[in-house]
Amino acid sequence: MKQKEIIINGKLSIDAIEMIHEYFKNHTVNGIEEFVMSEKEFLDKYKGTYCLNEWSTIKQYAIYTIDCFMCFKSYDVIIESREKFYTYAEADYRLCGKCFDTNNKLYHSGLGLHLAGDIVSQKSH
Ligand SMILES: [Zn+2]
Repeated sequence: MKQKEIIINGKLSIDAIEMIHEYFKNHTVNGIEEFVMSEKEFLDKYKGTYCLNEWSTIKQYAIYTIDCFMCFKSYDVIIESREKFYTYAEADYRLCGKCFDTNNKLYHSGLGLHLAGDIVSQKSH
């Protein structure tokens, strides 16, 4: 999964916008995607700053592009929280809505793939 963009609803200072980008910044370590800064590191750095106060007044989210495990088409998901990010990043299978439905139907009639593990799709959240 790849971060496409960060959407910020509301007016913020440039510093606060930079801070949010820092919060959502990812990197890959040993093939595992994670945030560059931990929640704690982030709070240690910004606690009590006007940036952080500003942030509490607005809504933001990140859009990630994900490649479907079955059809390899990419689709976008909205990730509003780190929790949701990890749900996607740590899933064994990431499916687009179409493949998720199709496989579900086939599976119930005995033809679909049995995907052992955690599945996330466009529709499962
Ligand atoms: Zn698909």
